[in-house]
Amino acid sequence: MIVRQVWTGNAYRNFNYLIACAETGEALAIDPLDHEKCLAAAKREGWSITQILNTHEHRDHTGGNASLVQKTGAKVLAHKNAKDKIPEMARGLSAGDVIKVGRTVELEALDTPGHTMSHVCVLSHTGQRALFSGDTLFNAGAGNCHNGGHPEELYKTFSRQLAKLPENTLIYPGHDYIARNLAFTLDREPDNAKAKSMLPQMERQDADKALVTTLALERDINTFFRLTNPSVIRRLREAFPDLPENPDPKTVFLRLRELRNKW
Ligand SMILES: [Zn+2]
Repeated sequence: MIVRQVWTGNAYRNFNYLIACAETGEALAIDPLDHEKCLAAAKREGWSITQILNTHEHRDHTGGNASLVQKTGAKVLAHKNAKDKIPEMARGLSAGDVIKVGRTVELEALDTPGHTMSHVCVLSHTGQRALFSGDTLFNAGAGNCHNGGHPEELYKTFSRQLAKLPENTLIYPGHDYIARNLAFTLDREPDNAKAKSMLPQMERQDADKALVTTLALERDINTFFRLTNPSVIRRLREAFPDLPENPDPKTVFLRLRELRNKW
């Protein structure tokens, strides 16, 4: 499996992706908003884009579908419940469905509600394990829930699915938000040494060569995976004095999500 992260350089800071089979040159494009950059990248590599996967229905993820379908004839895949919202959709995905790219790549669809209620993440099983996480999990952060999502569902997705992936899973999110998210981590946990050491580099990072994190690193720098950390809880109590003595992780997650919305 070959992965190319395509930095759009747009105001929304979207990342698009190409995943290709090294044997056949067939490629799947994830959320190819910048269809021209995706096509140019595929052409450079000698790949043909045969499938498009939308992680969810928001326009900054689906807006390139029509042009790319027209130019390549690629088939559009998305969550089965997104069919009324994504006109180009040809295949609806359910949890556990397998997406083949060429001969050598297999991706598994995960049903990951929260950011929207028809959001999929895809997990590669061939070669290096990698998660394409759309707007569910960001580097050092979590997706918002205010355009058709639900924070309790997002918590379930984090705790029941994402937190259980292997530690070395590479994380490929839908946007470059790492600097802002690390600043939020430090706001919530000022003594987080790892986040503190990374922030200056990430503020200067060239998004064309963005850092790719692992789940293990996310556990260190992503507040939404640090729900039982004493510093996180202590700081949270300053904002929510009614927080119980040993708050359950779900309560901590929901309160953090709430604070991040206003931050
Ligand atoms: Zn979105």
